[in-house]
Amino acid sequence: MQKLTNRSKVVSQKDMSFLEKAYVPAILSGMGITLKHFFKKKSTVAYPEQERSFSPVYRGRHVLKRDDKGAERCTACGLCAVACPAEAITMTAAERQKGEESLYREEKYAAVYEINMLRCIFCGLCEEACPKEAIFLTPNITPAYYDRQDFVYGKDMLVEGIAPEDRVDVSKRQFWRDNLESTQKNP
Ligand code: SF4
Ligand code: SF4
Repeated sequence: MQKLTNRSKVVSQKDMSFLEKAYVPAILSGMGITLKHFFKKKSTVAYPEQERSFSPVYRGRHVLKRDDKGAERCTACGLCAVACPAEAITMTAAERQKGEESLYREEKYAAVYEINMLRCIFCGLCEEACPKEAIFLTPNITPAYYDRQDFVYGKDMLVEGIAPEDRVDVSKRQFWRDNLESTQKNP
């Protein structure tokens, strides 16, 4: 029969030697590859003891910010939920009552605010859509859990603390966001 190409290779059918039958050359070659990688720079880190350095504008888990006086900035307008391509954000709005002015900045606030971290693709569109500078992405990583329900972050996981040491610094993302806006206005 005529060959279709001239790239065919004739494989010899010679008997294996005793060493080949005992896998000695194959084991030595495998150990050689292991030794070669043993002295190479490791491409993994021993997380969580060691952490990689991320980009200053890395998009990690979200934070809901408070204003300077400690009141929640979010006014439950829903724009972040509309902008979210993964439909990861849900919320329930409520009306601020008399005496709650120090808790919520505006007359309407989010009584329930949830982000499903299993749906989130960390695109940052919620942050861009927010007119109140209430939601930001931080460089913090979402930890691993065994239960799916644990990935649904409520306000207890999202709203930053009132004390100065519990505030989350979002200045780098804010700077990036401000510059993004000016770039879009003056392309
Ligand atoms: S980062 Fe993107 S996917 Fe995640 S909640 Fe925000 S808009 Fe949705
Ligand atoms: S986080 Fe911002 S966009 Fe989302 S509901 Fe609150 S104020 Fe509106």
